[in-house]
Amino acid sequence: MPLRIGCIADDFTGGTDVAAAFRRAGLRTALVFGTPDTTTALPADCDAAVVALKSRSTPAGQAVSESLDAQRWLWAKGAAQVYFKYCSTFDSTPQGNIGPVADALLDAAGAGITLHCPASPPNGRTVYQGHLFVHDQLLSDSPLRHHPLNPMTDSALVRLLSAQTSHRVALIDWATVRRGTDAVRDALVAHQQDGVRHVVADAITDDDLAVLGGACLELPVVAGAAGLAEGIGHACPDGAPATGDPVPREGRAAVLAGSCSARTLEQITHFHAAGLPSLHLDVLAAAAGHEVVEEALTWFDAQDPRRPVLLYASASPEELAAVQAQLGGAEAAARVEELLGALATHLVERGVRRLLVAGGETSGAVTTALGIRAVLVGEEADPGVPWTHATTKAGDLFLMLKSGNFGAADLFTRALGSSGEAR
Ligand code: ADP
Repeated sequence: MPLRIGCIADDFTGGTDVAAAFRRAGLRTALVFGTPDTTTALPADCDAAVVALKSRSTPAGQAVSESLDAQRWLWAKGAAQVYFKYCSTFDSTPQGNIGPVADALLDAAGAGITLHCPASPPNGRTVYQGHLFVHDQLLSDSPLRHHPLNPMTDSALVRLLSAQTSHRVALIDWATVRRGTDAVRDALVAHQQDGVRHVVADAITDDDLAVLGGACLELPVVAGAAGLAEGIGHACPDGAPATGDPVPREGRAAVLAGSCSARTLEQITHFHAAGLPSLHLDVLAAAAGHEVVEEALTWFDAQDPRRPVLLYASASPEELAAVQAQLGGAEAAARVEELLGALATHLVERGVRRLLVAGGETSGAVTTALGIRAVLVGEEADPGVPWTHATTKAGDLFLMLKSGNFGAADLFTRALGSSGEAR
């Protein structure tokens, strides 16, 4: 069965976020890690596939070529429409990569116009009169103005996008969106006749995004955050209701944590408080040549197989600073990722069938180590944190990949079906 819709996400966490949005809209959705090739297999009968790249902050030329490769692959899988997913805070610089990638996707598709909307109302991102708000603040007044890679000092999306493309950019305002799908479609036609190539659309609520989704079903390229993707998903003809596939309860369960984000540290504390077994991985010892993986596996083998376990390198800001001072940031990260990747492989070989991974980079290291190229997206445990299903050499695996700051404090225990009561 050909795909209904293909999606290119400009970072890994954004890929999970948008894949969860398509699934909420009832589409059977696959998430593909990195640029796919002829050997990358999709789960059967998918409606949507999301290719998660790391192209947000790379040089624009590289982002363009990787995105075009992904578009060709999605077309080969039958996708008539390609959704370009970027951050709901429009993370980019005057060099791109939003404008250059969108232009390249449009050129390749021979398309005249595209619609952009980064609104994500559940996360407080709304667009009004073309200005992007983060809760009650303009983007340019929000903490995002200090972002280390892409400081966002302007909130006017038409102006921001105009700096990234040589083509004309215009606005479809909220009054038009409120008039409904036909009004938006008419506005798109009128803008295209005027030589506009990128249209930014206002959206304040999920209803607005549903209107926009319905209006851009026929466009070969559409761009925005997860909210518009969900709007398109809901507007897809014959979209089946979201299937309530069961949250996995069988098989050994483990958490591997490499994120040092505040929320992950809280989740680790919650896991300890539930009295569940956990092991801290000593990065400095690993760097000094100690057999940290072997010791961790001996510890794992001694645990009650009915209870979830946690293995973590995650460190408080002070511990992290100390490790980084000794090893250097890049070397420390490489050690941690190597350690957690190796552990993931051994744990799955030892029968772990439910694996929760905390940390964006850490998730990349674990999927690479396990040789997982694509997963099927399942039910969300928390917003933007779905269970996924993967096939590995050792067997089927339910995998949850979470960005450091995602999920409630009790996510680990709740998702793994143990709040410690089985002690
Ligand atoms: P997040 O999603 O919270 O940003 P990531 O996994 O993307 O989490 O990033 C966390 C980074 O911190 C990883 O590169 C990881 O290797 C590194 N790291 C984790 N624990 C330690 C530690 N104890 N010492 C040094 N670096 C660490």
